[in-house]
Amino acid sequence: MEKVYQLDAFRAISERVGKFNVEGKRLLIPEMNRIGSHLMAGVFRGFGINASVMETYKGLDLGKKFTSGKECFPCVVTLGDILLFMKKEKERLGARFDPEKYMYFMPEASGPCRFGMYNKYHRIVLDSIPGLEKVRIATLTSDDAYSVSGLIPQAKIQDFRKVAYVSLIIGDVLDRLLWKIRPYEREEGMADKFISEATERMAESFAQYSPKKPISSILEELAEIVQEGKKIVDPNIPQKPLIGIVGEIYVRTHLKSNQDTIRMLEKYGAEVINASVGEWINYTTYDQARLAKVALKLNLKAFNLKEAKESFLKYLKYTLNLLYQYRQQTKVYRVVRNYVDIEEDHKIGHLEKVLKKDNTFSFEVGTEACLSIAAALEYAHAGYNGVVNIFPFTCMPSNLTSSILKPLMAKKNIPFIDVSYDGSFQPGREAALRTFMYQAYQHFKRHGRP
Ligand code: SF4
Repeated sequence: MEKVYQLDAFRAISERVGKFNVEGKRLLIPEMNRIGSHLMAGVFRGFGINASVMETYKGLDLGKKFTSGKECFPCVVTLGDILLFMKKEKERLGARFDPEKYMYFMPEASGPCRFGMYNKYHRIVLDSIPGLEKVRIATLTSDDAYSVSGLIPQAKIQDFRKVAYVSLIIGDVLDRLLWKIRPYEREEGMADKFISEATERMAESFAQYSPKKPISSILEELAEIVQEGKKIVDPNIPQKPLIGIVGEIYVRTHLKSNQDTIRMLEKYGAEVINASVGEWINYTTYDQARLAKVALKLNLKAFNLKEAKESFLKYLKYTLNLLYQYRQQTKVYRVVRNYVDIEEDHKIGHLEKVLKKDNTFSFEVGTEACLSIAAALEYAHAGYNGVVNIFPFTCMPSNLTSSILKPLMAKKNIPFIDVSYDGSFQPGREAALRTFMYQAYQHFKRHGRP
């Protein structure tokens, strides 16, 4: 009897977590990047899908209620988001509440990491709450570089993919614009207000224009926004120490989870650049091409010609995708850099070379550790005044990153700090960040900044 129960539980995971057609459903997107997530919802709406971003972090107690404390913190936060949303919908709609109308969007990643298990765990929790077993979970996976095949009709995939990628990159550049202008704003609060309005404008722009493929009109809107943002800067405020952030993508990007570390660093005199979301997307595409290349070599060596051909075609597909992504990314960054000198993203191939140079780490190990370690070395090489590693408490790749970066940064005399989060407030955290900024300021005084 117990065995039958277990098999049923696994069937629920395979049948109600997957690449389901999201048309006609209300698509619920958890907020990670407070700008990019809303732009992505705008893209879905532009393609006729009723998508919205759920309010975030307010359901943390619910997330904690259904977890043991051993799960990754982003898993707990996102679980709380969906549970609270469903609770409020049930209360709002009463007898009209129909769980089948919703689709919860939770992508995943493969590799030696637990991100691939969030949606399975969320499935188990939703199944334990009467009615919510009918809410299906739509997913994308890093295994195919987050292809949306299966979620939307085949005919729309190419167009959707192009615009969705641009929306993520615009999310990144708006964030970089904010970090570039906020430390130098004429009046406190101007930059935050400006960026909230800019996010709404861009989300509307994506919702309005996506199906007609006019990425250029979206970029024109972006150019206008950047020119307005530039006016917020007070040119009389002297340059500040430059700090680079690396770490786990969700917590370093999600303001509530990281208790707005960037604002705290700015409070103590920093200008900050965080690693981007685009970097991770480019990495997953790069890694698929890299794995196909390895398979191609092995198949050729073993004279498996049929498999070698498949590997070659896969390699070609992901290499072309990556080139396309880089081209789009450069186009977007160029629009902003015409007016404001924001930092560009590292190319993934370059980051792999950085790791190979001194045999510091390997892309064979995978996870974000290879991006974080290489990016921190690049920050140091460029003359940044300090590096911060932001991550969820117990995060495996980030602890690995920390163990490698700490001695390396000490050797290079670059101030470095780990900050981990699990939803609790640590009274000493602000003092630690303030001390780190003091060290960064000393570095700035001695060496200047890029
Ligand atoms: S990167 Fe860290 S937080 Fe994210 S799934 Fe892996 S172990 Fe968990």
